[in-house]
Amino acid sequence: MKTFDFHRARDVDDALDLAARAGATYYAGGTNLLDLMKLGVAAPTTVVDVSQLGLDQITATDDGGIMIGSGVSNSAIANHDLVRTQYPVLSQAILSGATTQLRNMATAGGNLLQRTRCPYFMDAEFPACNKRRPGSGCGALQGFNREHALFGASPSCVAVHPSDMAVALSMLDAVVHVRASTGSRSISLADFFRLPGDEPDRDNTLLPGELIVGIQLPPSEYARRSWYLKVRDRHSYAFALVSVAVGLTLDDGVVISAAISLGGVAAKPWRVPDAESALVGNAAGDEAFRNAAEIALRGAAPLSQNRFKVDLGKHSVLRALHKASTR
Ligand code: SF4
Repeated sequence: MKTFDFHRARDVDDALDLAARAGATYYAGGTNLLDLMKLGVAAPTTVVDVSQLGLDQITATDDGGIMIGSGVSNSAIANHDLVRTQYPVLSQAILSGATTQLRNMATAGGNLLQRTRCPYFMDAEFPACNKRRPGSGCGALQGFNREHALFGASPSCVAVHPSDMAVALSMLDAVVHVRASTGSRSISLADFFRLPGDEPDRDNTLLPGELIVGIQLPPSEYARRSWYLKVRDRHSYAFALVSVAVGLTLDDGVVISAAISLGGVAAKPWRVPDAESALVGNAAGDEAFRNAAEIALRGAAPLSQNRFKVDLGKHSVLRALHKASTR
């Protein structure tokens, strides 16, 4: 690991000042950043500790939603009463990832900012990775791509985002609140992550120095009927091959509204509005769910090794809809 300056920020303004230094990066739980630094994938010259900024609360908002401070641990989110009762799909998603120890350290903001686990990205010695070294090529395109993207990829990068939490947040229409020295702004989760295009080194739409301070969830109509399904190679401590967050509202067995977001298939959580619309007005059951699952995976562009993820995705959507509808 290369040497770096370490500063513990006193407050948000102090953090923003410190992060203005060239080569600076924020640090909270460190569960991904420290790995990347040890591997030589990340080499910040200044590390700004933002774990003591008082951003560790979950509060109810006036509109009936919640605000999750960016420094709240993943465990605290998953086990919070308001989350468990109003947003159970978020608890499910978080508890499906990592380990208890990691969830105790990892924060809400850091979870969104974790980097892909593409093996070529994680290997600092491998020569071709546009995300790690822009312009160097993409080892996964012709190499190991079994776990890679079905949607939204580019010739520059076919990696997927690894977060489970973000998939549930996407289904719940979360909004990310950020601070900069010039002011504050809010970014819908749909606009927070970037597809790779020809700049795969940029994972999201944050501007240099911007600090995530909170994640807001609007009131959820899916508290009663939702489900997070994660399919992976082994039962614990593995990233999703495919995951699905679904929410349904029903009236007398008919779908009134639906939300579906896929994980493990793109560089961002992948909402499927056409599949959601196809459910509305139909009886909640196998026929409508199968149709929605077909539509959800329509347009998938599998790579040489991950064609199996198309069928896996359809089955996962189908199973998750059945689970949600029978709760
Ligand atoms: Fe790098 Fe993206 Fe290609 Fe993986 S898929 S090798 S992260 S450019």
